[in-house]
Amino acid sequence: MLSYKMNVTSERVAVAVVRCADYGDGLGGAVERAFALMEGERPREPNVADFSGKRVLLKPNLLTDRRPEQAVTTHPEVVRHVIRWFKQRGAEVSVGDSPASTANLQNVWRLSGIGGVCAEEGVPLISFEQAGARLFEQDGFAFSVAQPVLDADLVVNLPKVKSHSLSMLTAAVKNIYGVLPGYSKTMYHRQYPKLAVFGRLVAAIWKVIPPSVTLADGVVGMEGQGPANGRSVPLGFLAASENPFALDRALCGMLRIDARRVPYLVDGLGGDYSCVGDTVTVGAFDVPSGAHILNILPQRLVDVFGKLVWVRPAFSEMACVGCGKCAEACPVHAVTLSEATRRPVLKRDACISCSCCHEVCPADAIRMTQSRILRMTMAFKGM
Ligand code: SF4
Ligand code: SF4
Repeated sequence: MLSYKMNVTSERVAVAVVRCADYGDGLGGAVERAFALMEGERPREPNVADFSGKRVLLKPNLLTDRRPEQAVTTHPEVVRHVIRWFKQRGAEVSVGDSPASTANLQNVWRLSGIGGVCAEEGVPLISFEQAGARLFEQDGFAFSVAQPVLDADLVVNLPKVKSHSLSMLTAAVKNIYGVLPGYSKTMYHRQYPKLAVFGRLVAAIWKVIPPSVTLADGVVGMEGQGPANGRSVPLGFLAASENPFALDRALCGMLRIDARRVPYLVDGLGGDYSCVGDTVTVGAFDVPSGAHILNILPQRLVDVFGKLVWVRPAFSEMACVGCGKCAEACPVHAVTLSEATRRPVLKRDACISCSCCHEVCPADAIRMTQSRILRMTMAFKGM
């Protein structure tokens, strides 16, 4: 019988935190312990009847084509141990995600190491782009979800713990955005440019997802210019919960991030939780000064100062390799590539601060920057 279900109510739920220093020999035991703690049980022998014949879909973070040590994607060894955990309990396991629209899927699977792990463990790796989708209308939003996600009896959400230039934190809640196939992910940024509204879209997606459980890979995370161009940082833990909102709130506490600045947590979802397991102390965790700042400024300030208050990408000509992925990813065509120099050119007034270009740049050539008045306001507010 499936014991997990998504819980976005205000009921108190457990967030299990387990110390785990690296992806070596202790990882399998840490995965086992995280699931057991989350269930409120001591570690026990696999019970094959638990998931016998059930379709379990693992949804790692496969944002783009980076190697495991770059900490952009969920570590393949975490995926391996979770595959084994569910296979031992009789589940039919598959793995799937929809990377950023500009990424080459074969490269993502190969470089992330997750393609290799799936082949070695004998489970299918699914492209959400080629597997059909179903349209939902939920909470005033319309969006399509990849069919393999909807066909699963249980979705196992496997995010990487990272900073994010748009949403401060990307972990349990935001990882579900990858169930939207293909370019639609980018287009919703254009449709819902206000961060608070975008946060509600992500919350709405969770409401149509089958029963789920989340195990977050915080063994090595990313800080700084996340989710793709930050620095890898050892955090030393795995965290698990039936409620992704509660899990992200717990992560905010551990990483000293103000949850009110994370757009999908502003409505108070996952508000009441208790941490069980190990007490993990994380040192300084550097979060980017990104577009989320616009979201927490008083609207009056934005109205009065208008064009003086902005967050925009800045391009490094030295680092840029002229690949054009930023232009391809921009939902409002605010970036073009100069024919003469093969370097990006920004139409400032068109930019909606969505960070999509920053997310896909393979050369760490883009920084999200703030206007002077915005920086002064942040300094005044002690942010
Ligand atoms: S230029 Fe970058 S941040 Fe601005 S709208 Fe385009 S993708 Fe988004
Ligand atoms: S800024 Fe980055 S994504 Fe854009 S063309 Fe240069 S290397 Fe490519």
